[in-house]
Amino acid sequence: MSAPKKQADGFRYYNVWAGNPKGRKGDPARCAEEISPNERGGAAHCYQCTRKAVVGEFCRQHSPEAEAQRKAVAHARYTRVTRGWQRAALGREVIAAAMLWRLGTGTLDALGAAVDAYNATQEPE
Ligand SMILES: [Zn+2]
Repeated sequence: MSAPKKQADGFRYYNVWAGNPKGRKGDPARCAEEISPNERGGAAHCYQCTRKAVVGEFCRQHSPEAEAQRKAVAHARYTRVTRGWQRAALGREVIAAAMLWRLGTGTLDALGAAVDAYNATQEPE
């Protein structure tokens, strides 16, 4: 979320850059978010979000609450996926320890430790 600071006249100004130092006066009825288009092609300029301001000064997509919620959902997904990977890796350790034990080069203690480590992880919800 980023919106240009309000200036002394109470308005936000968009697409302020060296070639357009005053920028474009923002429309207070629209979402205050400043959108940065992809820089591909070089001639990219920022502009004010075109949606109506319905949550404070922002649209539904750019409201701080919505952004915080999206972040929390992404973080939860990241945690879930990472835990799944960790659990899978520990599962492979159990199999490796079992194979070593079967070959006679591993110990039951090592296998037990691998099983304990695996059991200490929680199944991802
Ligand atoms: Zn917006």
